[in-house]
Amino acid sequence: MQQRVAEAKRPRVLVIANQKGGVGKTTTAINLGTALAAVGQPTLIIDLDPQGNASTGLGIPRAERKVTSYDVLMGAAPMADAVLPTRIPGLSIVPSTVDLTGAELELVGEKDRNFRLREALATFGNEGNLAYVLIDCPPSLSILTINAMVAADAAVVPLQCEFFALEGLSQLLKTLDLVRGGLNPKLEIQGIILTMFDRRNNLSDQVAADVRAHLGDKVYQTIIPRNVRISEAPSHGLPALVYDLRCPGSQAYIKLAGEMIQRERSIMAA
Ligand code: ADP
Ligand code: MG
Repeated sequence: MQQRVAEAKRPRVLVIANQKGGVGKTTTAINLGTALAAVGQPTLIIDLDPQGNASTGLGIPRAERKVTSYDVLMGAAPMADAVLPTRIPGLSIVPSTVDLTGAELELVGEKDRNFRLREALATFGNEGNLAYVLIDCPPSLSILTINAMVAADAAVVPLQCEFFALEGLSQLLKTLDLVRGGLNPKLEIQGIILTMFDRRNNLSDQVAADVRAHLGDKVYQTIIPRNVRISEAPSHGLPALVYDLRCPGSQAYIKLAGEMIQRERSIMAA
């Protein structure tokens, strides 16, 4: 009993996935991570995109990315060696570099290729007493994304409020179903985030209504507005929440973090 109490609670692992590029995955990883850390939920972002946008957006210079998500997947380094602090207290990151494009090919013949990240996280345990791990995925349904889905407890799906949003979503939901049917039966869909909502554009409203009609309460109440301050922040190596806390985009991510924590509590209580 006492031993159980002493054991650090496992962090909740969320994969941020959508095979479409430019829908707000990385922006969500950075700003949701920052918002969670700010309310006392220590969070680790794993950058699993060879583009390394999450690493850059959090101000990690390339020269400092010595041990990366590539090394972790290849089994060349334990996860603990790859974790870097960020300027945000309570927020850390496993960075990535373009090396990660090689992982795909190098892992093809390996029997455990889909389980590399899950294994690495299991070995990591919970150093740093994390509440959340957010995995930022590349815009594809590659081995990298599958590794993330296999390692995760639940998926979070950013969806851009545009005409073809639902079309891409069905492919993603199919992939999540496949993973649930085999590699990771416990994978849930934590929620769908409507991003880049433009209130001057009627289409945004229509897409939001459509998505809610299809997916009901899987869709978060909080909608992330299109906000230029959000797109400016990464070039300063800062989360939008630090670059401009008051802007509507930052405020939306703070609200989203609150909603997510609420949702997590009700999942845990169920
Ligand atoms: P993904 O990781 O899915 O490819 P990003 O998070 O990198 O998408 O977002 C794509 C681009 O859109 C980036 O330039 C980002 O700064 C910008 N962006 C993301 N969310 C918003 C938003 N709510 N308002 C304005 N620009 C945004
Ligand atoms: Mg990205």
